[in-house]
This record gives sequence, C-alpha cells and structure tokens, in this order.
Amino acid sequence: MSLIELNNVTLGYEKHIVLRNIDIKIEEGDFVCVVGPNGSGKSTLIKGILGLIKPLKGKIKYNNLKQNFIGYMPQETKVDANFPASVLEIVLSGTLNNSGFKPFYSKEAKEKALNNLKLLHIENLKNKSFADLSGGQRQKVLLARSLCATSKLLILDEPSNNLDTKSKENLYEMISNLNKEGITIIMITHDLDHGNLIGNKILSLREDEIFYGSTTDFVRRIHHDK
Ligand code: ADP
Repeated sequence: MSLIELNNVTLGYEKHIVLRNIDIKIEEGDFVCVVGPNGSGKSTLIKGILGLIKPLKGKIKYNNLKQNFIGYMPQETKVDANFPASVLEIVLSGTLNNSGFKPFYSKEAKEKALNNLKLLHIENLKNKSFADLSGGQRQKVLLARSLCATSKLLILDEPSNNLDTKSKENLYEMISNLNKEGITIIMITHDLDHGNLIGNKILSLREDEIFYGSTTDFVRRIHHDK
C-alpha cells in the first residue's frame, strides 16, 4: 500500500516554481534515493512532504501516516555541533515530535531513546558531549534521534556528507537494516555519482527530465544514454 502519494504536485516559493506536476507514489517498505544537482529541488520536495511548505498545486496524500510521526534527519552541517548537550539529551529531544509539550521526558521517552541508542550500537556514547564526537558518531546520534519520532518513515538529508568511506558504509548498512525491519526510507544522496547504489527506487530531479522508478531501470537508462 502506498504511504505517500503526490498527485500532480507543484512546489515552490511564492512566484518561484521549483518542481512542477510531480506524480509519485511511495510504497510502504520502499527505500527511495533522491538525487539531482544542487538547486534541483531535493530539499524543497522534502519540505513539501514534511508539510513545511504547502503545494502551490496538487495534493499530497498520507495513508496511515501522520505528518508529525515522520522521522527527519537533517544534514549534519545544519546542526550546531557545539550545542552543549549530551548524546542522550539530543536523542531524547527526538521524542518531542509526538508527545506534545511536556516539561519533562516520560519514562517511555527515555526507554525509546535508550533502545534506539542500543539499536545503532552507540549506547556507550550516551553521556558524552555531542561536541566531542567524530563525524560518523554524530550521524549515528542524529539517526537515533530521528528514529524516536517514527516507526514508519524516515527522511534523511545527505546523511553521509563529510564521512570517510568506512563510516559511510557503516551508516548505510544501518539504514538498510532499518529498511529491512520495515521502515520506509527517503534519502537525499550524492553518492550515486560514485556507483554506490542503495535502495530500491530512485527519484532523479533534473531540469530536463524527472525520473521516478526502480534503481535497476535507472541504471539501465544511464548505460543506455552513454
Ligand atoms: P536542492 O536541495 O536540490 O539543492 P533546493 O530545494 O534547496 O535544491 O532549492 C531549489 C530552488 O529553490 C533553488 O533555486 C533555491 O534557490 C530555491 N529556494 C530554496 N529555498 C528557498 C526559499 N526559502 N525561498 C525562495 N527560494 C528558495
């Protein structure tokens, strides 16, 4: 069953149209990589799906999914690395999405945060300061944080940015495992350029053509075009 449907959706800012007439269905269990040059509208699409901007035209339908139960992992560069908080505090803040305003974290929220730290094998970092972590560790913390908001859909914005090959592979393996466990993934990535294919579907945004389909069909097209 489809989790999200974009029906003839046009997205942009006031008079500046960025994406026109997008028609896509994201099925439960999909792992969709969103690729395209800088400025092609990848972030705009994500903002549309998260409900941060309204479609200028068309409709985004959510089936069996509440917008505030979407886990979102921003680019590491958009998170203040010197934020004076412990790993556990950062991960816990991911639970705020679906608990409304509460001055204290509940026992359930704490359990959830600890479980996600365990799931990503970073429980040992829980009392460390976020500022003292390596790039790879920070990404795992942000991933654990975004998991606190969701059991259904995770949206990742270039999660492997600035990581070395080993940390990148390690992070991708974790994301693939989450997908195998049933979490639908939408991931903005630049890594396709390096033949590093991951996921079952590709959404490629280019001015001349938008492609949405299986990763295998996308690769076939690239080879055909060469
Ligand atoms: P990408 O994520 O693929 O790099 P973006 O979605 O960030 O692309 O940007 C697509 C276009 O929308 C660009 O031309 C950018 O300048 C424009 N844009 C992005 N954010 C805004 C905004 N808040 N207001 C106006 N224009 C914007």
